[in-house]
Amino acid sequence: MSQMGEVDVAVVGGGMVGAATALGLAQAGFKVAMIERQPPSTLWFCACDYSPRVSALTRASEMILRNLGAWQGVEMRRIHPFQSMRIWEESGDAELVFDAASVKQPNLGYVVENNVVQSALWEQLEHHAVQLICGYELASIQFDSASNQACLALTDFGQLSAQLVIGADGAFSQVRQMAGIGLDQHDYAQCAVVGCVRTQASHQDTCWQRYRAEGPFAFLAMPDNISSIAWYLPVEKMAWALGLSDEDYREQIYQASDGRLGAVVETWERAAFPLTRRHAQHYVKPGLVLVGDAAHTIHPQAGQGVNLGLLDAAVLIDVLTQAKAQNEAYASYPVLRRYERWRRGDNALVQRSMEGFDWLFKSDKGVKDAMRNPFLSLANLAGPIKNLLIKQALFGREPLPNSAKTLHYLP
Ligand SMILES: Cc1cc2nc3c(=O)[nH]c(=O)nc-3n(C[C@H](O)[C@H](O)[C@H](O)COP(=O)(O)OP(=O)(O)OC[C@H]3O[C@@H](n4cnc5c(N)ncnc54)[C@H](O)[C@@H]3O)c2cc1C
Repeated sequence: MSQMGEVDVAVVGGGMVGAATALGLAQAGFKVAMIERQPPSTLWFCACDYSPRVSALTRASEMILRNLGAWQGVEMRRIHPFQSMRIWEESGDAELVFDAASVKQPNLGYVVENNVVQSALWEQLEHHAVQLICGYELASIQFDSASNQACLALTDFGQLSAQLVIGADGAFSQVRQMAGIGLDQHDYAQCAVVGCVRTQASHQDTCWQRYRAEGPFAFLAMPDNISSIAWYLPVEKMAWALGLSDEDYREQIYQASDGRLGAVVETWERAAFPLTRRHAQHYVKPGLVLVGDAAHTIHPQAGQGVNLGLLDAAVLIDVLTQAKAQNEAYASYPVLRRYERWRRGDNALVQRSMEGFDWLFKSDKGVKDAMRNPFLSLANLAGPIKNLLIKQALFGREPLPNSAKTLHYLP
């Protein structure tokens, strides 16, 4: 097996979080390799096609991407700011409305296709000396305690040595499994059906979320009056939803959304995902660290997964850069624990708050059902609390890394 060289950091997985981590570390002067089995195209051919995978990004994520120099590439491709969010439930007329103007902000965040963010980051990686190892699978990781080096073997490729291995390889992380790190998990017994649609009525730059007994239904506002849907169903209905004829799919969306945006006039590719909350029992080991979905997955109804992952990336970049500047062994356990202490509690808090939502909106055919509609009305009138919630969702919770709140990148 050939030796492909020696780097400071090997990032396994070049999705949004892995690519952001690799880019930030390369910008901070680390010698970085990134291994990705399915590289994205950095070209943008998709102007009239809409990917089913989209994310709502917070302003903290915007700031992180700006500081990495990737925001311009995102804007040049396709992104849409939304001004408000309306939440209601099927069995009542109360509505909870969040509005950018009420917190004196230009918007409440952005809706963007995942492959837009990923390709804008990869475009920047090409301008930095990151060794991109594409189209290969990780076969094994061996740690040599004498040299403090990890040796990564790649199928049909060769091997690479690194001081630090970063697992950014998503929910089914091989790095996490190879490191023997266990998972706490909870199966929501739900799936999310996603895809873009055009509706007859304008989405009014608003994200709409309707709670139904089967699970929520959401429209996320995209450009050209396209909305990305997130349609939550019991997991046993996943095959049915994917197999619907186009006509029946449009009708089901109309019903699930209570016709709020009129008829569905055009649809694009749809996809579906079973939903599980996962939390790695540890984020770090000597010489190894997990970020993004490799460390945690969360119910997507509040659109937080990649936002948490980008905060992981920003904090890890900060911690490693400071350790390097102070001549500390940046891959050592005490340094990596600083990252884990900073991020694990925050991620757990957001995961658990999703459970709160789930509990509140799950029907019990009793007191909770009767209380929900008055609760929504009351919550809608609670201006200061609502504004605090918007600000936390938009900007994140302290302590935040500097790169999530201050612009320091000068293009
Ligand atoms: C239906 C749905 C809706 C969502 N909506 C939102 C939202 O609105 N807002 C939000 O913030 N989040 C949202 N999320 C969550 C968000 O999509 C994820 O948190 C995010 O994609 C995780 O990014 P990642 O880079 O950590 O992992 P991934 O996107 O999974 O990337 C992992 C990468 O690693 C590569 N890889 C995997 N294994 C290997 C290997 N062995 N060797 C080499 N490469 C490997 C993969 O090819 C992939 O490119 C949603 C999720 C779902 C399912």
